[in-house]
Amino acid sequence: MADKKQRKNNKNNYDEDYNPKFRKQRKKVCVLCSDKNFVLDYKNPEQLRKFINEKGKILPRRSTGACSKHQRDITTAVKRARHIAILPYTQN
Ligand SMILES: [Zn+2]
Repeated sequence: MADKKQRKNNKNNYDEDYNPKFRKQRKKVCVLCSDKNFVLDYKNPEQLRKFINEKGKILPRRSTGACSKHQRDITTAVKRARHIAILPYTQN
């Protein structure tokens, strides 16, 4: 019981198991929210290429940093672009 309480206390003050790796991770801000002039266009492959990897897959939210609303918009835009053959479904 005493041990349990001690461990809990250590978790709360970040002195002992403090990992500087996690400190440097900055919270990503959604590119579409931060830039009001940024208009996502499915007819613009240069813009959408930032949201796909080299295989043509849509990047996950942890990579794009987009909020859920805009990630959905990105996904739709990429899928539309694929349909009109602006972006590839797959590469190599
Ligand atoms: Zn957003």
